Amino acid sequence: MAAEFRNIDIRTMGMSELRDYSEYMTTLVFMMVGYEVMELIEYIKTESKVNILKNIIFYHLVLKYSVKILRHIYGYGVIKSVKQLYTMIAKWIFNIILSLPPAKKQVNKEVQKALDSIEDTLVIRDPNFRYFNELPQHGLSNDEIFDEFEKYSGMKHNDWENGKVSGAVYHGGKELIYLQAKAFEKYCVSNQLHPDAFPGLRKMESEVVSMCLNLFNAPETGCGTSSSGGTESLLLACLSAKMFGKKQKGITEPEIIAPETVHAGIDKACYYFGIKLHKVPLNKYFQGDMRYFKRLINSNTILLVGSAPNFPHGIIDDIEALSKLALKYKIPLHVDCCLGSFIVSYMERAGLAGKSFPKFDFRLPGVTSISCDTHKYGFAPKGSSIIMYRNEELRSSQYYVSTDWIGGLYGSPTLSGSRPGALMAGCWTTMVKLGDDGYKQTCRDIVGGAQYFKQKIMDNIPELQVIGDPILSVVAFESNEVNVYDLGDLLSKKGWHLSALQNPPALHVAFTVLSADKIDELINELQVGIKQLKENGSTAAKGDTAQVYGTAGSVSTGAVVNRIIEGFIDTLYKV
Ligand SMILES: *Cc1c(COP(=O)(O)O)cnc(C)c1O
Repeated sequence: MAAEFRNIDIRTMGMSELRDYSEYMTTLVFMMVGYEVMELIEYIKTESKVNILKNIIFYHLVLKYSVKILRHIYGYGVIKSVKQLYTMIAKWIFNIILSLPPAKKQVNKEVQKALDSIEDTLVIRDPNFRYFNELPQHGLSNDEIFDEFEKYSGMKHNDWENGKVSGAVYHGGKELIYLQAKAFEKYCVSNQLHPDAFPGLRKMESEVVSMCLNLFNAPETGCGTSSSGGTESLLLACLSAKMFGKKQKGITEPEIIAPETVHAGIDKACYYFGIKLHKVPLNKYFQGDMRYFKRLINSNTILLVGSAPNFPHGIIDDIEALSKLALKYKIPLHVDCCLGSFIVSYMERAGLAGKSFPKFDFRLPGVTSISCDTHKYGFAPKGSSIIMYRNEELRSSQYYVSTDWIGGLYGSPTLSGSRPGALMAGCWTTMVKLGDDGYKQTCRDIVGGAQYFKQKIMDNIPELQVIGDPILSVVAFESNEVNVYDLGDLLSKKGWHLSALQNPPALHVAFTVLSADKIDELINELQVGIKQLKENGSTAAKGDTAQVYGTAGSVSTGAVVNRIIEGFIDTLYKV
């Protein structure tokens, strides 16, 4: 039969010939499949079960990892992937070398030196103080306690009260502090976990959330919860996305895509909740590059993240483009407005947003959640942030519910169990006290100050280069002439504390109400510092150095930097 169909041309076949031919082809295919099936049956019969299982697992793994590797290379491109691989291997080899005896000893010495210096700056060892490593046998009198307070505040520290600290303290004025203390007194031991005991507190929380939803132009379905701070809000946004992705799409190996500048809270969330985090390189405007965002999306993507603005450089990511992408691929989009809080949401209301001011809030249809720190530019007492969602399904994805606990039916909206009512009362008090007018004014003062600072640097300090074009309250700068970390150290001797950034080495100032009118002084100090550094022959900071908070001098960001950070945290608990 086969011979008949040699040298065939189906274009010239008649109907019956065609039928024969297709019958023949079908038989052939069946035979081939049949043969394969027989082979498989034969294989299963003759091969040991263990080997079969081994083979299945082997091919499954090969397939799984090939998909992962191919997706990675597709997402980051060949050149970047090779660079990443190189860095990974170099780090690995470097670690091995450092763990060998001759290097190890030297490294231990260096680490100890750094840790000793951290300890010297942080731990009080003054004989004039009283120490309480154990409970005092008899309770102290009020006056004795106040005496201790006085001694602590008399110590040398960064001069935040005079507006010389970047960020850290978002102070709304003396009168607010008085009111916040009153709120604290009244709600000191109250607990949001028990709304029946504290109905007023429940009302306050719901109103604070509602006020924030309004500021970020949430739709009717918008909702949210309060949390203990920006990090918790980010943890909750990632948790909600993870649970939502699992429910909606059955995703079990979740991935998040965020710009390299995204706050460390997102890294922390991924670390805690077992999520893979893709970091998107920056474009020339220092925003997450949209080309990478697009290529890194796959069937495991549970969340896209952008910041408005980001912490390091105060730059707003391209949220409009992210929103489009999120809609196209039906992936949730979180906008981190922790820092932006009552600045970015007030730009339009304060009349500071020009036509080209970028959109960033719920008015963009792809935005599904927003975090806003009431304890930053909302001026609430520390320990206060809001996480908002487009709808209730997303919000309930962050809830924890347990129906069979012996302690009773249990449900809690956020990560903590008991929640400090005093902080919520302090937040509510702050917001209703300042009101719309108050926040408009602080927005104008702070943004005005930051923009004045930016202009002054660009016009008067050629040694410093502003990073990107920050339009809000944070301005970052690097230097190709002097070591910016040394500059930061010089300023800290004069009581100023600017934040040190890395990759590239840079400093930033997050302006607050307190620092907004200290700008000429700061510019002057920067100029004096630069002059001094240049006279001492300072050169630009190397790419591989960085600074740990609260320490003098920079460290090389090699393999040992982990140990220094861990040691720094250990130091916090030294008595
Ligand atoms: C401050 C900040 C956060 C959260 O920080 P917390 O210290 O936990 O309040 C998150 N994102 C950005 C951009 C921030 O600046």
